[in-house]
Amino acid sequence: MIEVTSANEAIQLEEKYGAHNYHPLPVVLHRGEGVFLWDVEGKRYYDFLSAYSAVNQGHCHPRIIRALTEQAGELTLTSRAFYNDKLGLAEKLICETFGYQKALFMNSGAEANETAIKLARKWGYTQKRIPDNQAVIVAAKKNFHGRTTTIISASTDPTARAGFGPFMPGFDIIDYDNVQAIEKALANPNVCGLWLEPIQGEAGVYVPKEGYLKEAERLCRKHNVLLMMDEIQTGIARTGRMLASDHEGVRADILILGKALSGGVLPVSCVLADDTIMLVIHPGEHGSTFGGNPLAAAVCMESLQVVKDEHLAERAEKLGIIFRSRMNLLVAKSERVKLVRGKGLLNAIVINDTPESDTAWQICLKFAENGLLAKPTHGNIIRLAPPLVITEEQIHECCDIIERSILG
Ligand code: PLP
Repeated sequence: MIEVTSANEAIQLEEKYGAHNYHPLPVVLHRGEGVFLWDVEGKRYYDFLSAYSAVNQGHCHPRIIRALTEQAGELTLTSRAFYNDKLGLAEKLICETFGYQKALFMNSGAEANETAIKLARKWGYTQKRIPDNQAVIVAAKKNFHGRTTTIISASTDPTARAGFGPFMPGFDIIDYDNVQAIEKALANPNVCGLWLEPIQGEAGVYVPKEGYLKEAERLCRKHNVLLMMDEIQTGIARTGRMLASDHEGVRADILILGKALSGGVLPVSCVLADDTIMLVIHPGEHGSTFGGNPLAAAVCMESLQVVKDEHLAERAEKLGIIFRSRMNLLVAKSERVKLVRGKGLLNAIVINDTPESDTAWQICLKFAENGLLAKPTHGNIIRLAPPLVITEEQIHECCDIIERSILG
């Protein structure tokens, strides 16, 4: 195998030959295990990003890697032109886990959201009798659902949109965390779906007021609109429940999952719905060469089983409370931190500076120096989301690192 000889070489190679669509921290990672990552020089870090919450089960979880390698030696891809002996089992497990009648596997989170959009629109035309090409999906300001041209058509982030038009019509964008705005938007009879994140992760771990999601669900029922819940970042135990919607007892009509469905091993995403919705899509109308492949199915089953067997939701709930109480002490001690917010182990600290300043970036560099990896989101906000297999003792050690980096 070809290997780089230094961190600098790895960075230079990416700079020279890779597209410049990311701005990574200058750390070159080589190995991961559980909550830890090691760089090419052998320095160990706590991972406080978890690949944007895709590695909830921890890096290279032995059970998930075993499922991966065993399946890789048997069969990896058949396409959906044929049946395979793993997909049905994965569909059954995921339907039973989340309480839906049907599952549709895709790969990336963006593809799962695209699938949800197509489902909601088709349902709108065939079931709600919306006139052809008039269907509207209501989305929220500051959302993040992915990077496709359709999805960014519903984005309000100038960086995500600028230069990429023309945009897809059919979206009505309203304020997040505002029940009146939902009520008003859903009065339009052409609305087929309300598309929300239960907590806006990329926007800076913005947690809506208690009751918002429940009201959203009630208004969807009242207006015969599908509640499309993007739990790609918040789902699979991250916020202290299997789904963030579970905190309010909300059941989406279309549930959108990704990231930790594979424990960070492969791109696996999935859309769940009941028959009346899922069966509006017929053979040939939607699909993906890799979606639902046996390798992904085997990895997904093991990843979900690990979350259940290791009680990761309960762990995230308990450790999240400890983490926020430690961070609140820091808020009281330091002028540099304005507030901490989050649920379970999806949290963020808001730095006391303008969004344009590089203070959060500098703090993340200091974290890295002190052995912890995190990344700013939207300027002055730092998301803090370790793998859920972290222990209580490790959480305290990480809080010490964060404190030392900010106070020192
Ligand atoms: N939806 C949400 C809520 C996300 O956080 C993300 C990724 O961060 C996506 C969708 C997009 O997922 P992917 O990058 O796998 O396309």
